[in-house]
Amino acid sequence: MAPIKDQAVVLGRLDYSETSQVVTVFTRAQGAHRLLAKGVKRGTKKRFAPGIDLLERGAVVFLPSTRAEGGLGTLIEWRQEDAYLALRSRLRAWYAAQYGAQITLAMTEHADPHPELFDALVALLTGLCGPGNPLGQVVRYQCALLRSAGLWPDLTRCVVCDRPAPPERSAYCSIRQGGLVCRSCRPSCPDARLLDSTTLEALRNGNYDAPQMATALKLLDDTIVESIGRPTLLEMFTLA
Ligand SMILES: [Zn+2]
Repeated sequence: MAPIKDQAVVLGRLDYSETSQVVTVFTRAQGAHRLLAKGVKRGTKKRFAPGIDLLERGAVVFLPSTRAEGGLGTLIEWRQEDAYLALRSRLRAWYAAQYGAQITLAMTEHADPHPELFDALVALLTGLCGPGNPLGQVVRYQCALLRSAGLWPDLTRCVVCDRPAPPERSAYCSIRQGGLVCRSCRPSCPDARLLDSTTLEALRNGNYDAPQMATALKLLDDTIVESIGRPTLLEMFTLA
């Protein structure tokens, strides 16, 4: 098999031996791959034994695993293009980025390409290095991830009886049902929660810099948790 060249972000890494690492990269055109990076921790003239860092972006050349369900591929070459250094000196932005990495890994399958999600992830990391509030950046990325997974909640109508939701009103939202539920259908949806009209409108319009994004953040995280069946690192970010 010919080696694959792609853009990638490092979403996970662990030390494999004194000199090697296993890295999980999310590539733009080839999805997520776990790769054995042999000898990567040895120093070179250019880099003093740095290995490959979490949440850096680069150009990758690799041989994918021959097993369809995953397994370890082989990293042939890694050229760092952006280390997002500003992230590493700001705890809240760093936790936000780690949360982004965790939910991306949890919600994507091995070798399943999502170029639009890759672009959204790069936008998240770039945005988190900027001066803005990380909250809106994270909500924007949660939205991209849920859309890419086909799990975006329907905020336009009652998902049980199809009745359209009136604009600019609060409404109940059921994660299990996948969207809004009207007052008549609500008793059959015990997990439905009330969403205020400003949060709803902000989500409908993609206005991620709205001040009330904390409610959206929790709703979308709960949607992700429901899908992956285990907790996320959201608290690390919200408590930082
Ligand atoms: Zn209904």
